Amino acid sequence: MSELPKTYDPKSVEDKLYKFWVDSGFFHAEVNPDKKPYTIVIPPPNVTGQLHMGHAFDETLQDILIRTKRMQGYEALWMPGTDHAGIATQIKVEENLRKEEGLTRYDLGREEFLKRVWAWKDKFGNRIISQLKKLGTSCDWDRERFTMDEGCSKAVREVFVNLYNKGLIYKGHRIINWCPHCATALSDTEVEYETQPGKLWHIRYPLADGSGDLVVATTRPETFMGDTGVAVNPNDERYKHLIGKTCILPIMNREIPIFGDEYVDMEFGTGCVKVTPCHDPNDFEMGQRHNLEQILVFNEDATVNANGGKYEGMDRYECRKAVVKDLEEGGWLVKIEDHEHNVGTCYRCGTTVEPMTSAQWFVKMAPLAKPAMDVVNEGKTKFVPDRFSKTYLRWMENVHDWCISRQLWWGHRIPAFYCDDCGEMTVSKTDVCTCPKCGSKNIRQEEDVLDTWFSSALWPFSTLGWPDKTKELDYFYPTSTLVTGYDIIFFWVARMIFSGVEHMGETPFKTVYIHGLVRDAQGRKMSKSLGNGIDPLEVIDQYGADALRFTLATGNSPGNDMRFSDERVQASRNFCNKIWNASRFIQMNLTIDKDKAVELPSDLAIEDKWIISKFNTLVADVTRNIDQYELGLAAAKLNDFIWENFCDWYIEIAKTRLQTGDENVQKVLCYVLSGAMQLLHPFMPFITETIWQALPHEGPSVMVSAWPEYKDELHFAAEEAQMESLMDAVRAIRNRRAEMNVPPSKKAKVLILTEKKDTFSAGAGFFPKLAYASEIELIDAVPADAAKMASVVTGDAQIYMPMGDLIDFEAERARLGKEKSKVEADIDFVMKKLNNPKFVDKAPEKVVAAEREKAEKLREHLAKLEESIAALN
Ligand SMILES: [Zn+2]
Ligand SMILES: [Zn+2]
Repeated sequence: MSELPKTYDPKSVEDKLYKFWVDSGFFHAEVNPDKKPYTIVIPPPNVTGQLHMGHAFDETLQDILIRTKRMQGYEALWMPGTDHAGIATQIKVEENLRKEEGLTRYDLGREEFLKRVWAWKDKFGNRIISQLKKLGTSCDWDRERFTMDEGCSKAVREVFVNLYNKGLIYKGHRIINWCPHCATALSDTEVEYETQPGKLWHIRYPLADGSGDLVVATTRPETFMGDTGVAVNPNDERYKHLIGKTCILPIMNREIPIFGDEYVDMEFGTGCVKVTPCHDPNDFEMGQRHNLEQILVFNEDATVNANGGKYEGMDRYECRKAVVKDLEEGGWLVKIEDHEHNVGTCYRCGTTVEPMTSAQWFVKMAPLAKPAMDVVNEGKTKFVPDRFSKTYLRWMENVHDWCISRQLWWGHRIPAFYCDDCGEMTVSKTDVCTCPKCGSKNIRQEEDVLDTWFSSALWPFSTLGWPDKTKELDYFYPTSTLVTGYDIIFFWVARMIFSGVEHMGETPFKTVYIHGLVRDAQGRKMSKSLGNGIDPLEVIDQYGADALRFTLATGNSPGNDMRFSDERVQASRNFCNKIWNASRFIQMNLTIDKDKAVELPSDLAIEDKWIISKFNTLVADVTRNIDQYELGLAAAKLNDFIWENFCDWYIEIAKTRLQTGDENVQKVLCYVLSGAMQLLHPFMPFITETIWQALPHEGPSVMVSAWPEYKDELHFAAEEAQMESLMDAVRAIRNRRAEMNVPPSKKAKVLILTEKKDTFSAGAGFFPKLAYASEIELIDAVPADAAKMASVVTGDAQIYMPMGDLIDFEAERARLGKEKSKVEADIDFVMKKLNNPKFVDKAPEKVVAAEREKAEKLREHLAKLEESIAALN
């Protein structure tokens, strides 16, 4: 046990303690049939990412849960790891390659480029992990995983082949979201929509039979070369007669059919729409229904391809300008309207997504979605707060097939192998070198890799050893709680649930605890472009990890966003200092045996029973709040108990007894403080460990000590009520003295008229110190000279203090007299203004009203002063 230094310096303890915990193996979990398992899998951060406030929030909440459960006797496993983050990582390496060497990935070739990505991963992959450690996260680092390590890759292949063999993965020519910048397909979830101002161009298409023309309205004239039809609503009286006819695509001079489809909104534009199956998802569907030709007009970089005629080679926006100009010159452009529309952008790079048809791999979702909805409907997986189960179910109900192929190099390459000689495709868990059909050795593996979420969807069981049947899977799966933000419910949570149900036959989590986003002090999202992001590492550097964690834990409730400000961190830091100073004071006053944990003495004073009972209630409350994921409430209760009940009241009362060497009070102080450090430990691991170690204790660390439990025999309702009476009286006396401006050094006799004489005689000792009493007297009747006393009334007592004890009459009269003159002068000054017609007429009404109000207030003040002066005589 070491002596606590004068001030708490997080830097001098954090790294040391973290190393002590790791070296002691406290974070490590093993299959243990004697204990119940509690498991959390970390949302794997991007391997080359950097810790931001969102991570810090997420990890703090997980660490609070895992540390609590560990202390409660569970075999608590927090499975850590990182995600290869396909697009994000590849883009970073490509950018670096371009900047440093002026090369693209194609210059290097696939193999060489992947070597560079692995090198990049080796260089930066540990950064995020070491940053997580700075927060104090108690992950089982012995089990750290990576979505592209051998085991996880094996799981990916197993899942792919199983789903393919069941007909749940297929390759199809479909319309997908294409990012021209990232040069890859994106799933629906990876597209972000924003409203942008745009135009609606009205274009005239002549009828092929020469009987007139029709006008289509479009937001995207640059795709018109790919039009293969014009659609009208079959119920539209204006156009019914055109159905079955054909019209001529201007400039391209191609004849295209006019057909009826109920999808067409009669109210929108002209009621005639051009149909471009290759570049619009709705048009694609219409094309399927009406057997339209598919004409792709863009290349992968969104420049116009050979199907675009004279526009070949232009980019999308250049092409739009040229097309509009040509239409106008040809007399085809009827009018242009302003029109706001929803534009899809790439969630990674922000480029406007181009819908395009292409050959991609898909997971057939309908058969997987049904059982994944069942586990939530049946309560096998609960969302906290519950409203997110509706969000989840709604998405699952309407889920589209999942496009899982990406035209990237960094990721799990799709295990499909093509024979160049006979065209056979083989999907296999092991690499294929010989064609099973013709025996040819000319085999090529699919170029595409899998969506990065394909592997993270398997995270809860791939990290526990699946597809092997491991004892870990048996013991730790299904996991207990998943902690994550509402922004990745679809990307990740939904996919883990259907994957777990499909491959493990059981939901991956019992509870999904959804938290909100960390916003800045003004409630804005933290973002690079606003420059309002706060670096958690800087906060740790300045205030310590505990202050950061406590700030993130308080003021948050499940599912809701939270605001982060410097003032809030400072308040947490002040809380640390308050705890530190109190602990240090207690430590310096200890004479009891410091080498074993204290036991409560049998002889307890009223205030001892009160604080023990309060603490006992706190144990029950905090335990229940954490169980119900109300971590913010638990933190607030800990803060209130330690700050007010323990520091401001109990320690103050205890001081007198400490001076007399009373060992019982030392024991109670240590008992309550140690217990409070245990309850606070999950929130503030570093300072609590330091203090717990400095108090009498048994065992190597607070983090493996047994969580305090509520004990019936430590509930002292009567003493709590008695203490409340006494505290009310003390507060009332202090307030009355403050009103009368009496300094603490000025002691006064306190006369107490009460029916609860026992209580007040038991607590008589508190009054000299807490209520600045020179003497206490319990009386039976209102004193005869009560008129000359200051009095206060509480629920249980009438309290009298002789004025002569409180006030130096001469000095007070002088002080009041002086104040009275000043107020009178102020009144004169204001009245002069108000009596001046120039001011009253010319000054703005508001200013005049303010002056009148000021005069009114001054007069009230004066009246009170006169009353006080009269009372002194
Ligand atoms: Zn992109
Ligand atoms: Zn073959």
